[in-house]
Amino acid sequence: MNLTQKTDFFGITEMKIGVKLLFNKWEGYSDNANDIINMFEHENKHYSDIKEMGLNKFLKIFNTAHGKKYLERRAIEKMINHESFDKCSDRYKLGVYKYAVENGYGIISKVKIKQLPLK
Ligand SMILES: [Zn+2]
Repeated sequence: MNLTQKTDFFGITEMKIGVKLLFNKWEGYSDNANDIINMFEHENKHYSDIKEMGLNKFLKIFNTAHGKKYLERRAIEKMINHESFDKCSDRYKLGVYKYAVENGYGIISKVKIKQLPLK
């Protein structure tokens, strides 16, 4: 997530949340609608956290390594629990699981077990 805030000459504050195609980094884009829906759920969770705790407190937590991982885990949990996740591409899910591990998860609780190829 990339969060920027700027206040213009007239005192109007604009806030932007940038969505990085983090979970599709092998290709840089996705043609799976569920991947895209699910990605926005991640950013939605950050946004609802900002609304709930206020921007200043959010940034104070987000700007520490431990706090950033905590907030990322909250957003990852939202993604994995969202109805779109089961329909996401395997590549996307793998990216989410990898990101979960990078942010402090040791165990992945929900993994689809693939069938062995038929001989
Ligand atoms: Zn995030």
